[in-house]
Amino acid sequence: MPVRTRFAPSPTGFMHLGGLRTALYNYLYARRCGGQFILRIEDTDQERFVPGATEVIYDTLKGCGLTWDEGPDVGGPCGPYIQSERKDLYLPYAQQLVESGHAYYCFCSKEEIDERRAAVEAAGGTWKYDKHCLHLSKEEVQEKLAAGIPWTIRMNAPTEGETSYHDTVFGDMTFPNAEAMDDMVLIKQDGMPTYNFANVIDDHLMGITHVMRGMEYLSSTPRYNFLYEAFGWEVPTYVHLTTVMRDAQHKLSKRDGDAYYSDFVDKGYLPEALLNYLALVGWNPGDEREFFTLPELVEAFDIHRLNKSPGIFDVQKLTWFNAEYIRRMDPEKYLEAAAPWFDRVLAGKGIDYARLAELTQSRTEVFNQLPDMVAFLAELPDYDLELYTHKKMKTNPEVALSSLKLVRPVLEGLTDWSEASLHDAVMAAIQEAGLKNGAVLWPLRIAIAGVANTPGGAFEIAALLGREETLRRLDIGLRRLENA
Ligand code: GLU
Repeated sequence: MPVRTRFAPSPTGFMHLGGLRTALYNYLYARRCGGQFILRIEDTDQERFVPGATEVIYDTLKGCGLTWDEGPDVGGPCGPYIQSERKDLYLPYAQQLVESGHAYYCFCSKEEIDERRAAVEAAGGTWKYDKHCLHLSKEEVQEKLAAGIPWTIRMNAPTEGETSYHDTVFGDMTFPNAEAMDDMVLIKQDGMPTYNFANVIDDHLMGITHVMRGMEYLSSTPRYNFLYEAFGWEVPTYVHLTTVMRDAQHKLSKRDGDAYYSDFVDKGYLPEALLNYLALVGWNPGDEREFFTLPELVEAFDIHRLNKSPGIFDVQKLTWFNAEYIRRMDPEKYLEAAAPWFDRVLAGKGIDYARLAELTQSRTEVFNQLPDMVAFLAELPDYDLELYTHKKMKTNPEVALSSLKLVRPVLEGLTDWSEASLHDAVMAAIQEAGLKNGAVLWPLRIAIAGVANTPGGAFEIAALLGREETLRRLDIGLRRLENA
């Protein structure tokens, strides 16, 4: 039987990193086994409907290169792949369970249930649906249905005994039925199935062999197994994944801006780097390798190497991965990715982006660092004259003043404003004056950049700024040093 996995997100409008990792592992396993990876949209909770949310799912998966074999947009033999479009298919299955005694119609109104719940809770108990409607006779049920009283269908859960199953990651699991089970709703009043029901029906109808999902479903799995058994269907292999955490105590959270794929991509993390790192948060290849392309991940992936302890998503580690990926980028690709970030501060300034990109590529860890890194080119910062002091370069404001006085006429006299020409002319002047390189180059770079850290040195910056702006900045430096 070919392996069939599925990613079954609810369209919330955002792709949580934990969800993306679940998608990734499902994808990797299907590809590793030469099976199929299915995308199913679980949108039966219409109250939570968010417009445009399915597009976020498509765009994220596509942006990461996770292609699916069957799904809403590409179709497939088990369609439709959007649960709300499958709406009418679930009721007959629920009715089949009513027939066999595994489920029953419930006519309790929300108010009635609320009242009984309040009474149980007031007495210190925990509420579970009390099987009130289980005891209605067939005739009573027919009467109420004919009278048009709103109904739901509930599972007739066992109250005693226990349920055991095997999970690939967590091993043998056993839950007392009294705790793990309740008479959960299968079909809601609006006719929609609940997630709890639909996932079982769909996983069966879609031939899913491996259910890989978040560990929050470990404890509800006994209920799903009850349903599989009630239908006489084969239970899939379970692979529950640990939660992706920020640290040992905290989950990734929306509030901290570190939970969603878009949080990171918008900051300028590369999807490839994010995916590579995410793969390692919860799985290990069994050796020291850290860098994987997607095909390499497929090759290396083994569900028996999924970790049982929570995966810690360390942003610093991700940033390190990202910097490595950026360093290895094709320069043209880098330029393309960097240009919009340069534009934020340099648009219309006539700066040579191609050259700037060459200078920034090795220093870029995350693209959102670029505007700050290059802003000095747009406008000379209001810098402190103490920047001219540098012990190792043997310079201070006084030395700087004489150094700038030395280079000012040299630059002014240049006809060719290329990096090479700037370099040759200034170096010749330094040599002739018998000075140390640093004692001239440091002040020159401070005068024209106004910041201590710059991509490129004095000549590269002067070339980027152009003759006029370089001389203007030099004069500002001279004037300020003279008046100091
Ligand atoms: N729709 C569920 C979710 O988004 C899927 C759970 C599952 O994979 O069964 O969490």
